Amino acid sequence: MEEAEVYYADVLLPLHLPGTYTYRVPREMVDEVQAGVRVVVQFGQKRMYSALVRRLHTEAPRWRAKYVLGVLDERPVVTERQMLFWEWMASYYMCYPGDVMAVALPAGMKLASESALSIHPDFDGDLSRLTKYELQVVGLLTDHGTMRVDDISHALGIQKIMPLVRTMIERQVVVMDEELRERFVPRKSTYVRLAEAYSTEEAQRRLFDELEAKKRTKQVELLMKFMTMSGFGKELVAKRELPQGSALQTLVKNGVLLTEEREESRLEHYDSDSLVPASSIKLNDGQMAAYEGIRTDKAHSVSLLHGVTSSGKTEVYIKLIDEQVRAGRQVLFLLPEIALTAQIINRLRRYFGDKVGVYHSRFSASQRVEVWRRTALKDGPGRYQVLLGARSAVFLPFSDLGLVIVDEEHDPSYKQQDPAPRYHARDAAVYLARLWGARTVLGSATPSIESYHNAMDGKYGLQTMATRYGGFSLPQVEVVDMKQAQRQGEVHGHFSDTLLRAIRDALAARQQVILYQNRRGFSLRLECDDCHHVPQCVHCDVSLVYHKATNSLRCHYCGYSIPVPPECPACHSTRLRMVGIGTERVEEDLQIMFPEARVARMDLDSTLQKNQYIELLNDFAERRIDILVGTQMVTKGLDFEHVSVVGIVNADNIINYPNFRSFERAYQQMTQVSGRAGRHGDAGRVIIQTYNPSHQILQKVQDGDYEGLYRDQDNERRVFRYPPYYRLVEITLKHRDSDVLNAAADWLAAQLRGAFGARVMGPEYPLVSRVRALYLKVVAVRFERSEAIGDAKKLMMQMADDLAKQDGWARVAVHFDVDPY
Ligand code: ADP
Ligand code: ZN
Ligand code: ZN
Repeated sequence: MEEAEVYYADVLLPLHLPGTYTYRVPREMVDEVQAGVRVVVQFGQKRMYSALVRRLHTEAPRWRAKYVLGVLDERPVVTERQMLFWEWMASYYMCYPGDVMAVALPAGMKLASESALSIHPDFDGDLSRLTKYELQVVGLLTDHGTMRVDDISHALGIQKIMPLVRTMIERQVVVMDEELRERFVPRKSTYVRLAEAYSTEEAQRRLFDELEAKKRTKQVELLMKFMTMSGFGKELVAKRELPQGSALQTLVKNGVLLTEEREESRLEHYDSDSLVPASSIKLNDGQMAAYEGIRTDKAHSVSLLHGVTSSGKTEVYIKLIDEQVRAGRQVLFLLPEIALTAQIINRLRRYFGDKVGVYHSRFSASQRVEVWRRTALKDGPGRYQVLLGARSAVFLPFSDLGLVIVDEEHDPSYKQQDPAPRYHARDAAVYLARLWGARTVLGSATPSIESYHNAMDGKYGLQTMATRYGGFSLPQVEVVDMKQAQRQGEVHGHFSDTLLRAIRDALAARQQVILYQNRRGFSLRLECDDCHHVPQCVHCDVSLVYHKATNSLRCHYCGYSIPVPPECPACHSTRLRMVGIGTERVEEDLQIMFPEARVARMDLDSTLQKNQYIELLNDFAERRIDILVGTQMVTKGLDFEHVSVVGIVNADNIINYPNFRSFERAYQQMTQVSGRAGRHGDAGRVIIQTYNPSHQILQKVQDGDYEGLYRDQDNERRVFRYPPYYRLVEITLKHRDSDVLNAAADWLAAQLRGAFGARVMGPEYPLVSRVRALYLKVVAVRFERSEAIGDAKKLMMQMADDLAKQDGWARVAVHFDVDPY
């Protein structure tokens, strides 16, 4: 008699655990269990998880394996390539594949026994389409509001609840709670339509005759434009697409045109007839050379597109994307910030319509699952071919990836800081493209030293676009010596007369202004004039920042906050002084100096709520804001038409940041924010305020001398043994007791020195040596670029495991950061 074979599944759990776990597959599930499908397993005492099958086999483990409890998918939801990608990421960035799985899979696909469920707000209440068990779940949730999967399972006495719940989520009968919290608030825009009185051809003719007779040429022009765009008044036209100015205002005032606020529907349908063909874009010579250079470069699979701000990189991307879309392949388009997606989505949808999918963390769980599903499709009308997103989009289940574009490739927000995997999305994307045999294009006006180095080394192809599209000139950069200005009495508050005059001129010409200040809050700290005491965070080793809007002192590391003390907590003096300025202060001062201007602020505090970000940008684009004050957020690749002045309030803050990348960063930030000025016409002006006007970085920003910056920085990095010549692995240890921490850090450093000798640096306290009541210490190891360090990484992870086994050190957290940013 032949014995039936017993099958086992190695599964991956979305948890911080090494490797896979083996479960036994019940006979009746053998046909359904395959690599890439999710199964339900019990892990630990009672918790249930959806786990991912990595491999199916017949090798019995040495212990008694638990059974797989259920199968969630009929077909794989994660491909072999994705799992290889996860495994690469885990080994390169020194974490576990489970850590990668936890961030890679959208929350909606990680159903676990502790997930909370409630009735979907859009559920139509049609009970006739529910099964008996589904009815019971709906009944329970109606009574209780929200329940955990576990509790539903107990209440109903159904063990295999997960597959049932999964179907109910997919049919939008129930939702996972997390999703409810992040429900999408639709965004609004102003639309213009023709008043009812002018709906007939006759009335329209009379209107035009009348305006022409009165020689209102501006109004006639605008109205003509509106008529063409609206199909002679049949449709609405977005206000921002019309020329702004008095003609429009007059037509609205006279009741010819009406405005209204409308939701911009998110999942618009794009008629294939109404799309603009990408072939209609006429590239100029520089763009054409770059485009051809990239697509015909047989020697390199990665190209760096170095194009100055507003050189028209996006149009080059669109041409490259078009080629892939027509060949039926997919494109991944990465951006550093979600906020940037709004502008680019519109630009891409004009050409590729509903083939464009957007993926990022601010979307709800069900939206993310939907994008995931449509990316995986191999064909059919719902398939996404252009996937746009911030760093997590590298995890999408592509079915045929042909091209990867990383825009603003220099941007530090591509690096994930916490939790693991601490990956760099640009570098991960280059690897992903390699897995697919796809081409990668890295674009920037201010490339990272690493990428430019790779281009100089011949590893990457290099295309350069040195002029702005349309023949517009790059903005003129002026450096204001604040010390001298002060001496001459030309400083008011924190602004030089030069900057104030430029703002006044811009406002008078109905132009807009962007002011960059890299610190948020009102003042950076309070200081006692008598004893020099500065209020500190009780959990972190930093001073508290004064926020006037909330009249509080706040810690920017942990959120700790106290009311502003009326007197010095140390000596009771009432002479507390504000030191340093942040965005709140800049905003307030400007509002006082320019009372009629509309001033707004864009920083973490003003954009905490979902979509506030997008609304601010929308308001700015539609000129409901004259002066926008902000942190790094305003420096990124935004394309506004009417910005003529950019001011950098305090350049010294930006330059003097103690990090080997600080000059590179300062150059990038200042050049990028400058690049927002004068993009569509009149030359823009950039005014940089500083107490150190002869600083080499300012000189280079002024001259637009990227090559010079690169030469200096690359040389310094070589001499001082930093990337790109060396690879850094930074190991951070944390513990609430500094003695324990010091002992553990010394022990680890000794182990590392034993293995890697002089490559080891530290342990040292980082700049901020205590965060959230945990002390921090850092040990760094640098390897030469040419060294293969796969084994070294494994050894280091082993040492961390050994450390945790030492007496009393189990709770010392050890984090690896490879290629820290
Ligand atoms: P970058 O991304 O290089 O900063 P953009 O791609 O935003 O620059 O281009 C700047 C502006 O020039 C945009 O408004 C864009 O629409 C316009 N532009 C660039 N290239 C073309 C082209 N070939 N045809 C028409 N408009 C273009
Ligand atoms: Zn004091
Ligand atoms: Zn704190």
